[in-house]
Amino acid sequence: MSAKRIGPRDDLALMEGYHSPQVDVAVRLNTNESPYPPPAAFGERLAAAVADVQWHRYPDRAAVELRTRIGALHGVGRDSVFAANGSNEVLQTLLLTYAGFGRTVATFEPTYALHAHIARLCGAGVIEGERDDNFVLHLDEIDRVLAEGDPRVLFLCSPNNPTGREEPRDLVEAVLDRMTDRGGLLVVDEAYGQFASWSAVDLITEDTPLVVTRTYSKTWSMAAARLGYLVGPRWVVAELDKVVLPYHLDVLKQRAGVIALDLAQDMEHRVAAVVAERDRVLGELADLAVDVWPSGANFVLFRPQRRSGPEVWNSLLAHGVLVRNCASWPRLDGCLRVTIGTPAEDDEFLAALKEAL
Ligand SMILES: *Cc1c(COP(=O)(O)O)cnc(C)c1O
Repeated sequence: MSAKRIGPRDDLALMEGYHSPQVDVAVRLNTNESPYPPPAAFGERLAAAVADVQWHRYPDRAAVELRTRIGALHGVGRDSVFAANGSNEVLQTLLLTYAGFGRTVATFEPTYALHAHIARLCGAGVIEGERDDNFVLHLDEIDRVLAEGDPRVLFLCSPNNPTGREEPRDLVEAVLDRMTDRGGLLVVDEAYGQFASWSAVDLITEDTPLVVTRTYSKTWSMAAARLGYLVGPRWVVAELDKVVLPYHLDVLKQRAGVIALDLAQDMEHRVAAVVAERDRVLGELADLAVDVWPSGANFVLFRPQRRSGPEVWNSLLAHGVLVRNCASWPRLDGCLRVTIGTPAEDDEFLAALKEAL
């Protein structure tokens, strides 16, 4: 008897998943995590919290304490905060709620690949706008995309992954005006917001369709915990609460998120240290045979001038340094992206790079 094997939905059949090799090397500078583990007090308090958990009960479905504390961090009430398993789940819930079949989502490439990927998984169409050769986004291109695609949801990523650029405030305000007029939603992905010079959180009101997504993964040294959130109008958060699975945030994660906020000052020191390191690495790269672009994030994009991106990537790996190979990604021909590490890791990267070039 010959069995027929079921395939995925027709519209998913040609899709690729998320690719980032997890190679075991000494210096891992490929996924934009914090180079520092959380402070020792974090582990101690979390261990105490574990002992305290009522494992036979479901967690607080509304995650009241966590959302209240995140809200306090941003000067808003808990009804303006939605939290989920990594900001990727925040993005997925947003797109399940506001995109889907018959609706279009706009991205400006190159940018975080999961915006378009999750939109397609949700059944939405995607219209891709372009940046100029230096990865700057212009308002006339945004207007073209709005006119051609009439997107319900428009993504900006600031600082943008993988280019590092921040979007200027006047551009974000201009896009918000347009999405307000059109009855759309503007999503500003601020996964790297704490490393940047300004935040779109300040633009959020009840009367404008703007949400800002954030994550504990990068700044807060908590990539392993999978926790992210958004701040936005209460009417958006209320819709997301209907769509997300009940009890999606387990009790330990809720505790971990609150404990991290108790240690916010330590976290701020880490951010300051990473920003100082970023500026040092940018300065060093400026003297080497690479093209390099400004960064408001905890990583830097660069393009070797004399050797190909993959050659340099392989040479770095041979020296025990793993960076992100973007060389074959559309619009990023020959580019590599390095996450800012500890000063010692960055020195190893810079030494290996000098040899590789
Ligand atoms: C890393 C990253 C995320 C995902 O973060 P998680 O909270 O770990 O899911 C979202 N957006 C951008 C731009 C990122 O770089």
